[in-house]
Amino acid sequence: MNDGRLVLAKGVRIPVVWSRELPPEPTSVRITQDSLGHWYASFVVHRTVEPAAMAEGSIGIDWGVRTTATTTDPAFDLPHRGHRARCASELARAQRKSSRRHRKGGPQSRGYQRAARMVAKLHKKAARQTQHDARMWAKSVVDNHDVIAVEDFTPKFLAKSTMARKAADAEIGAAKREIIERGERAGRMVVLVRPAHTTMTCSSCFARAKQRLELAERVFRCHACGFTEGRDRNAARVILAVAERGHTRVEDVSQSGHRLPVVGSVAV
Ligand SMILES: [Zn+2]
Repeated sequence: MNDGRLVLAKGVRIPVVWSRELPPEPTSVRITQDSLGHWYASFVVHRTVEPAAMAEGSIGIDWGVRTTATTTDPAFDLPHRGHRARCASELARAQRKSSRRHRKGGPQSRGYQRAARMVAKLHKKAARQTQHDARMWAKSVVDNHDVIAVEDFTPKFLAKSTMARKAADAEIGAAKREIIERGERAGRMVVLVRPAHTTMTCSSCFARAKQRLELAERVFRCHACGFTEGRDRNAARVILAVAERGHTRVEDVSQSGHRLPVVGSVAV
């Protein structure tokens, strides 16, 4: 493997596009082809696992449609980028074209096949970008925190959900997977907290609102202590508080149990 080419058996040399650097020389390679006809090479490498650098601090993470991840620290929020939405018009055009050219029964025309292929390509591109963003974000969160409390939210991917909703759910799914995997690999304490009541509980005094907040209501106001905070930010703080108290459900933290010595923003 030199001059940017991969040398296969029988001296076949092919140019490659590297998605990341290879740490040491690989011991084997597997070549695969996806449904779009793109070729991929995956390498097996032996590497010594270096323990992740120490990190201090804890973070709570709440998932959402508008902002993919709202955390206890705004510097680590992951905005919803909507890669799919951005190429939605391109996609819609390709889809219209493909349906216009679709023949019921019988063989499909070249034009249809080309258009259908374009649709698949755009989907794949968006998914790759989502994956990349999730990876970068998870890395910076894991590098900087040793306690990571994550809302255990599972997107449902219902057939009737809108395209935008599907895109948002895909971003949440990718980010959640990355943060859990990376966090555990780095030896961080990763706690999954059930989503029930996280948005209706006050992160300051743990009083629970009598009513669920409407989705349009973006600000949480505590009826008991007057604490006011953005809805998602408050939920992220509740998620972290639950995890720091050794629980995984809001119900397990009583209002009195919440009053723990908190110094600055770091609870001990
Ligand atoms: Zn309160």
